[in-house]
Amino acid sequence: MQQYIIGNWKMNGTKAEAQKLATGFLSRIQKANRPLPHIVLCPSYPYLVPVIEILKDSPIEVGGQDAHFEKSGAFTGDVSVTQLADVGCKYVIVGHSERRHYHQESSSIIRKKIEASMKLGLRPILCIGESIEERKAGKALNVVASQLISDLPDSFTPHDLLIAYEPLWAIGSGHVPTLEEVEEIMGLMKHELSARISGSALVPTLYGGSVNAQNAPDLLALPHVDGLLVGGVSLKLDEFWEVINASQR
Ligand code: PEP
Repeated sequence: MQQYIIGNWKMNGTKAEAQKLATGFLSRIQKANRPLPHIVLCPSYPYLVPVIEILKDSPIEVGGQDAHFEKSGAFTGDVSVTQLADVGCKYVIVGHSERRHYHQESSSIIRKKIEASMKLGLRPILCIGESIEERKAGKALNVVASQLISDLPDSFTPHDLLIAYEPLWAIGSGHVPTLEEVEEIMGLMKHELSARISGSALVPTLYGGSVNAQNAPDLLALPHVDGLLVGGVSLKLDEFWEVINASQR
């Protein structure tokens, strides 16, 4: 499977900076002389349209960082999956730990967001992962398995969505699980998925949390890692380009 490298810009930058980054990636893509992975950039809402404009004729896709599951209505401050699709987004991050933590997002809301996105052909990137306390208590595998059960809809195909394993303690911390720990969780995810729906081991499973140019090659070489979800480093043109170039398939 062709790997996925997804950049989550979070609440960073200005319009000019977003445009500069998008233009920078576009020119690297145009000069690339090797097969590239799927590349998805997720800017803040106000910069989606300017970034989509720059990337419209390129293979780089754009995604939202979150979305409301209702089509429209009295939800001040929210943006719907329908609106994201309308402006040309192809992906949306759902259930990021920062949304779960700061906005108290529950599994039932996350599941509705996934269902609403899938209906529109917008591919959700579901984020799951354990806390440091859960990891220390030896519960990481159980937590991830139960998040898969509670967050995923009853039916989906491998093309409908992506799942990112993002241990909470690895996000923005500089701490990364060992390669064995990553592979153990990713293997479990594939196993749980295929036990649930036949063929769903083909759902792309990504790793996220303090990815950088140094650790990306080893992470991307793991058999069950179908890509990376990258936060901080996705705002650095040169280093993110190195991560993209570390893709193996
Ligand atoms: C993230 O927040 O999804 C993330 C992976 O962040 P970082 O790469 O900065 O750890």
